[in-house]
Amino acid sequence: MTDRTDPLLTEIARRQDDLIRLTQDLIRIPTLNPPGREYRTICTYIAERMGAQGWTVELIRAEGTPGDSDTYPRWNVICRHEGAAPGDCVHFNSHHDVVEVGHGWTKDPFGGELEDGRIYGRGACDMKGGLAASIIAAEAFVALYPDHRGIVEISATADEESGGYGGVAYLAEKGYFNPDRVQHVIIPEPLNKDRICLGHRGVWWAEIETKGRIAHGSMPFLGDSAIRHMGAVLEEMERHLFPLLATKRTDMPVVPEGAKQSTLNINSIHGGESEQDPGFTGLPAPCVADRCRIVIDRRFLMEEDITEVKAEVSRMLEAIRNERPNFEYEIHDMHEVIPTMTDKNAPVVTSTAAAIEKVLGAQPSYVVSPGTYDQKHIDRIGKLKNCIAYGPGILDLAHQPDEWVGVQDMIDSAGVMALVLKELLT
Ligand SMILES: [Zn+2]
Repeated sequence: MTDRTDPLLTEIARRQDDLIRLTQDLIRIPTLNPPGREYRTICTYIAERMGAQGWTVELIRAEGTPGDSDTYPRWNVICRHEGAAPGDCVHFNSHHDVVEVGHGWTKDPFGGELEDGRIYGRGACDMKGGLAASIIAAEAFVALYPDHRGIVEISATADEESGGYGGVAYLAEKGYFNPDRVQHVIIPEPLNKDRICLGHRGVWWAEIETKGRIAHGSMPFLGDSAIRHMGAVLEEMERHLFPLLATKRTDMPVVPEGAKQSTLNINSIHGGESEQDPGFTGLPAPCVADRCRIVIDRRFLMEEDITEVKAEVSRMLEAIRNERPNFEYEIHDMHEVIPTMTDKNAPVVTSTAAAIEKVLGAQPSYVVSPGTYDQKHIDRIGKLKNCIAYGPGILDLAHQPDEWVGVQDMIDSAGVMALVLKELLT
């Protein structure tokens, strides 16, 4: 049942103008990734705001991580408020980078325009709205409960959109997400204010290369086409692998429905002569392709083992080799992430669920993300299992033109976050 009488909710509603201004200010700093612009500017902005209120702030550059350079340094900020008595540390982690603008905008992508209760801009929903909501929630909580137990932390981190290596992965390696230091993590990604995201499916990226022999295109029988060999791979995938993956269903509450099974995408295919620049007006040369490569993106389930996921593809390639003359291939691992799902009875989950019920008057739904986000590093490197994604904004708007976040959604989810702090730290 809704119970909006809590003084924390009144305090947050009172701070609505501040929340709007803060969100607009964050959107107006164009932290585009790639290449990684204005990271220091946004970290300094947050550090100055929270430092002025007595929070301890730390700016951390992820030196030497992918993309880090003196032109585009990978800056992160962590703000920390220690209470009056020992207790747990509750950490809100948001990424501060945004993806490219793209075409089709009718609003200024870095204007932070407010219209009919929506704030527009690149990163409004993914996820500067969530970052602003967590800051307002934490500030309101500290104002009302200055003598709280434990510690509140807010971080804004780099590069989530490009894998998180200059952000959460780096901080986890440096011990900032060690369970001895942090006990509860909420990542305010735009998952809708009534949903708790428990984790994500697994990922395996690999490159498969087929080999051939170059020859004149007028006498292909003198060569051996790597593209035709790759055609055999694709045919085998269509015939056996895709149908097999469709039979693998998960008990994880993955959304959308189509992602409740194993999936495989072929990200790219390249074979033969490379493509010329758009201005090139010549004709191609006649050659048999001696190399063909595809990159596969396999998403797997909690119920699957990564060794078996890889073995499935190797068995398929071996079967083709046994049947097809001169079939030779190589397979290279590129990237992998193990699936993760936080227990529904974990303290950060139960306290967020109770807070959602109080603010929205309904039980939350529990979801798992089809793709990964920074929870992967907190889980694998930090070994911290008590972690969820919860925040304002509509997931489908992420990375779209005219991206926006609703002011009321931010107020509601800030209320939820503040009630979680009250539950865990008073
Ligand atoms: Zn995001």
